[in-house]
Amino acid sequence: MGLNTRLASCDNGRWTLGEWSNSHERVFGRPAFFDEPEQSPLPAANQPVWKVLLVDDDHDVHAATTLALGTVPIEGRQLDIQSAYSGAQARDILATQQDFALAIVDVVMENENAGLDLVRHIRDELHNRNMRIILRTGQPGYAPEIETIKNLDINDYKTKSELTRTRLFTSITIALRAYALIRRLDAGRQGLEQVLTSMRELSDPASVSNFSSGLVTQLCALLNVPTESLVCAILENPDSYPVVLAGGGQFADWTGLPLDTIPDPRICSNLHRTLASRQSSYDDGTNLFISGNDKRALAAFIDMPHPPTDVERQLLDVFCSNISATLEHLQLFEAVNTLAYTDTELSIPNRNALLKAIDDAARLDARLVLVDIDDFSKHLSHADEHFADSILVAVAIRLSTAFSDRTCVARLAGDLFAVLGPAGEVSLAAVHDLFSAPFTIEDVEPQRLSVTMGAARTTDDAPGQPSLIKRAEMALLAAKVSQRGFGLQFDAALLASNRTRQQLTRDLHAAFEADQLSLLYQPIVDLQTGRYNGAEALLRWPAPHGDVTLPKQFVPIAEQSGLIVRLGYWVIEQALAWRVALQDTVTPDFRVTVNVATTQLHEPDFAQRLNALLIRSGVKAHQLELELTDANAALRNTELINQLSKIQQLGITIAIDDFGNSRASLLSLRALKLKRFKLDRTAFPSQAADGALPDEAQWLLIMATQLGLTTCAEGIETEAQLESFQAQGCREGQGYWLCPPLDASALADRLAST
Ligand code: C2E
Ligand code: MG
Ligand code: MG
Repeated sequence: MGLNTRLASCDNGRWTLGEWSNSHERVFGRPAFFDEPEQSPLPAANQPVWKVLLVDDDHDVHAATTLALGTVPIEGRQLDIQSAYSGAQARDILATQQDFALAIVDVVMENENAGLDLVRHIRDELHNRNMRIILRTGQPGYAPEIETIKNLDINDYKTKSELTRTRLFTSITIALRAYALIRRLDAGRQGLEQVLTSMRELSDPASVSNFSSGLVTQLCALLNVPTESLVCAILENPDSYPVVLAGGGQFADWTGLPLDTIPDPRICSNLHRTLASRQSSYDDGTNLFISGNDKRALAAFIDMPHPPTDVERQLLDVFCSNISATLEHLQLFEAVNTLAYTDTELSIPNRNALLKAIDDAARLDARLVLVDIDDFSKHLSHADEHFADSILVAVAIRLSTAFSDRTCVARLAGDLFAVLGPAGEVSLAAVHDLFSAPFTIEDVEPQRLSVTMGAARTTDDAPGQPSLIKRAEMALLAAKVSQRGFGLQFDAALLASNRTRQQLTRDLHAAFEADQLSLLYQPIVDLQTGRYNGAEALLRWPAPHGDVTLPKQFVPIAEQSGLIVRLGYWVIEQALAWRVALQDTVTPDFRVTVNVATTQLHEPDFAQRLNALLIRSGVKAHQLELELTDANAALRNTELINQLSKIQQLGITIAIDDFGNSRASLLSLRALKLKRFKLDRTAFPSQAADGALPDEAQWLLIMATQLGLTTCAEGIETEAQLESFQAQGCREGQGYWLCPPLDASALADRLAST
């Protein structure tokens, strides 16, 4: 029987193709041709089709439906109708093919539940909530419950007799529209989820470059395109040249290249265009514009096989505007980061950066060397106020360029630098060598610099140990005392001595507060007449168990802890009081001399307070003399030189104590009108049994005399030594042979008896 001539068998209500061609009136009420379906625009050639699964055990239904729906596109797309003749066959098809927009399902097929079971399978087992479903049945008695229709999300339920061609068409159109909408919503939802994930992924990158490579990954995931299709360029500011920031796949090699140099003119011109127009466009590939901070701009080019759909574009808009915020945030973060980890004056890492690097190096065999420029303060007083800065810059450059890039060179403070790197590479000797060549600084002669260093190694880390930086600091501190011009490596002995020093510091403070410190006085004798010209006040710290802690042990501690300032004023007060007590015993020119450390001279009001103490005590200025214990440091610092001249203006004389034995240093005294020069015992080792003075000591005495300084020899222990000094014309002397240091009353008695 030809298709067009078959008639419906009316008794079971099922319709056949014959009904379409010959019996419209009878079976479907009205001829379908009078009821044309709504016209849809012609489909574009590349528009995808609607896949429709027709499930019915009646072969005629398939033929009739196919013919009825014909080739008229719905919503611009052709139908691709696939047939299944049982629920089971439908499952097989669904197992291998996806993307069915619609299933038109007969309720009763191989059994009474076959249709509904198929729908349940689609919804519950295949988890396909998007596919639209139209149920048809020839038997109204088999109509599913309303609840079932709702639960299984069935679009339409029609008895076959209800479905005229027009109604079928309308029903299918509505279902397909619903499907398209659901798909769009679904794509939007999935896309938004992807956008949110991408945001999350991108919100915590460590740097703008991490961000960019993350951006490539995230954008490609969002658009479901391979990473090879994306290139990203950045424009730092409108006047700069754009640079490739990141690229996916084979484009990764372009990272860092100026945009103009990349070998793909299409990508190059697209990125340029986006950066210039500052907006996204989709006419040639997908070109995204992402604005950044401070006119920074980012452009991404994505080579997509087809232009993005509306939903994709909307998502890209959301993505780009959010990404702009992330990028701005990141740029701000980078700027803050730079500030937090960079020494802005020298543009090298700072203390924070070093601490971070130390953390990173914890498991490696690394060495930290702290580098302190010796006598840096003397450069601060240079006529050119930028001179000291230039020195710091030169040192920073030399240190930063000397080692491999696994090394971190940082500035910790003022003239203190740190070098952290592999222990095999970074060492005291290696850093010391860097300072053997002079530094070239503009407009001045090459400068030789000496440094003192402290080093510590990560492998010495142990629980309870001070941190690496603390250990290096201890080593530096110790080196400043015993290894000036070179350095010390931290070790256990150093830690022990540091602990002793800390304990000593606490004890010394306590002793001072408890008024346990005292002074001894040692006469200064005129070597020609034997007369007592004065006496030097010498600090004593009697320890509880009868021992005496020597000044050379505790005076440096007092200096380091700053106690020396208060202690120093106390010594001066005591000495002045003693001098007052001697008023009737000694001649008016008898002077009391007090040792003064440079730390004390740094006090801006030192001269003023000295004057106040003189006035309060009634002692005349010329009856007090200060012995400068670290003249080398003092004489290189204009601030201290000014302080010294203020003191001299008061009428107080100044002596150079322990000025070492260098003639060159002595020459530098010429400019200062200092009164006295004390020749240290170390300049004439007592071994010389005959008391003969070494050449060097003789030279010093001659030079000092030529410079107009009065000379005083310290530590005369033998008669032979005394005679030698007398023979050399040394004016004054001090020493056990002449008189040992005595307590205040003992010396007062002695002075009274002479
Ligand atoms: P100095 O100023 O050179 O003091 C002279 C040191 O030589 C004193 O040591 C003194 O006791 C010692 N001496 C005196 N005659 C002889 C001798 O014949 N043979 C030997 N071997 N030594 C002799 P002292 O008291 O231990 O002081 C050591 C240093 O401590 C002083 O050296 C001074 O630089 C410092 N000092 C002492 N008191 C003070 C103070 O009040 N303030 C400051 N800033 N430093 C002080
Ligand atoms: Mg002295
Ligand atoms: Mg001395």
